[in-house]
Amino acid sequence: MKTHKILIDGKWRSSCSGKTFESLNPATEKPIGRFQSGNVDDVEKAVQAAKKAYEKWRKVPAPKRGLILLRAAQLLRKNKESLARLVTQEMGKVLPEARGDVQEAIDMAEYMAGEGRRLFGHTTTSELPEKFSMTIKSPVGVYGLITPWNFPIAIPAWKIFPCLICGNSFVFKPASDAPLCAIRFIQILEKAGIPRGVMNLVTGPGSDVGAPINKHEDIRGISFTGSRDVGESIIKDSGVKRVGLELGGKNGIIVMDDADLRLALDGVIWGGYGTTGQRCTAASRVIVHEKIRKKFERMLVSRIRKLRLGNGLMKTTDVGPLINRDAVDKTHQYTVIGKDEGAKLLCGGRATKRKGFFYEPTLFTDTSPKMRIAQEEIFGPIVCIIPVRNLDQAIDTMNSITYGLSSSIYTNDIKNAFTAIENIEAGLVYVNSSTIGSEVHLPFGGVKKTGNGTREAGIEGINEFSETKVVYVDYSGKLQKAQIDVED
Ligand code: NAP
Ligand code: MG
Repeated sequence: MKTHKILIDGKWRSSCSGKTFESLNPATEKPIGRFQSGNVDDVEKAVQAAKKAYEKWRKVPAPKRGLILLRAAQLLRKNKESLARLVTQEMGKVLPEARGDVQEAIDMAEYMAGEGRRLFGHTTTSELPEKFSMTIKSPVGVYGLITPWNFPIAIPAWKIFPCLICGNSFVFKPASDAPLCAIRFIQILEKAGIPRGVMNLVTGPGSDVGAPINKHEDIRGISFTGSRDVGESIIKDSGVKRVGLELGGKNGIIVMDDADLRLALDGVIWGGYGTTGQRCTAASRVIVHEKIRKKFERMLVSRIRKLRLGNGLMKTTDVGPLINRDAVDKTHQYTVIGKDEGAKLLCGGRATKRKGFFYEPTLFTDTSPKMRIAQEEIFGPIVCIIPVRNLDQAIDTMNSITYGLSSSIYTNDIKNAFTAIENIEAGLVYVNSSTIGSEVHLPFGGVKKTGNGTREAGIEGINEFSETKVVYVDYSGKLQKAQIDVED
């Protein structure tokens, strides 16, 4: 089995710790490689390399940086199938979704390459004569990028491409459940021509690599995607620096009595069981109008029973494994909690006996909004149905959680749709579509405890990774004072 290295200052090397760890294929439980268990000394070296490289990189004209990103997009496209297969092997999602994971990175590279010819500031008037005012975008400096395993190519791409186009360098710490995807991705970017030291990759545990990155004085910004608990520790320990947090969700789909139920059924299956429920935008609550509840439950149960669990590389598989054994145990704990709370189990509720981290797609009904299975992020294939009497109650239920990432409503009534759009507390609202389906040129992120107000992707992704510098040019030839009265 191959032992992979970490990238510091353009060289692939071993960690100072002398330790390694394995990443498993969750469908087979077989290791797919050994990885460096990085530590604080590796982080120190990586930060110093990034600091040095930043001084040159920030001066490369942004359109030239964009050309490198375009080359990265071409190389990613060329390697799409092999990268997608690796995604499936390392974290389990089914191959068509793994291809989507890589496609998102290609899209983001192309979008951010184009930003190299924009990076717009704005000009405005001045209150004084012969004075010019404008804003320009400038880089932040060295960034720390910390990512989860569930989109092992797309999420790093969401951070790396805007980070680079804005002229920053970075130290990247990927999730320990998907280090090989990160390494392959960075190797492609190296080939595209990102200069030495601009990108540094340190694998290893959150406590030994992520935490020192977060606390490092020379790192000017952190972009973190992951769980709320770790997100809260990041905000506590980061000190005075820019921090972008993309945390969890407990997303809901409202199905009104006037909805096209077949369409809603497709949306719930895709949102609830796609990626085995391991998306931050997964639909884990289905808020259903009482009038159609029984019928919709029957439709759902019959579809769920047809879902085929298996290795994501097989064409016959609909639902892949969970990421690891802990995730299976955590998911099952929630089945037990749901039953104890009095929710009714309609199907699933068990781990399978086969090799691999598989858990049956599970559906609860008679869930009340305050139950733990309706409040807490499970990150597994458990969906709960919450019956409601009308739209007001549906929206109150939707909002009765501490998260606020994605949401959806199925209705054919335009008043229902716009009332939901106006009143749902979430960063994303879908109408007649599932809770999943972001596109890279639109901002992505959530409200409440899903984040701290930053947005990734789209034009707002540029704001996350750049400073706004204000420039005043006074060409009057005399000292003019803003806000100070002068006699004419
Ligand atoms: P996680 O356990 O929070 O880990 C995320 C990353 O943080 C990993 O690289 C992890 O390293 C690292 N980390 C752990 N402890 C750390 C510490 N003390 N300091 C710094 N870094 C630390 O999350 P996950 O299980 O990988 O991913 C699932 C979570 O991500 C879910 O909550 C999901 O909703 C969320 N997510 C959110 C979005 C979004 O855009 N809102 C998108 C996808 C996923 P190790 O792997 O080494 O532990
Ligand atoms: Mg793995």
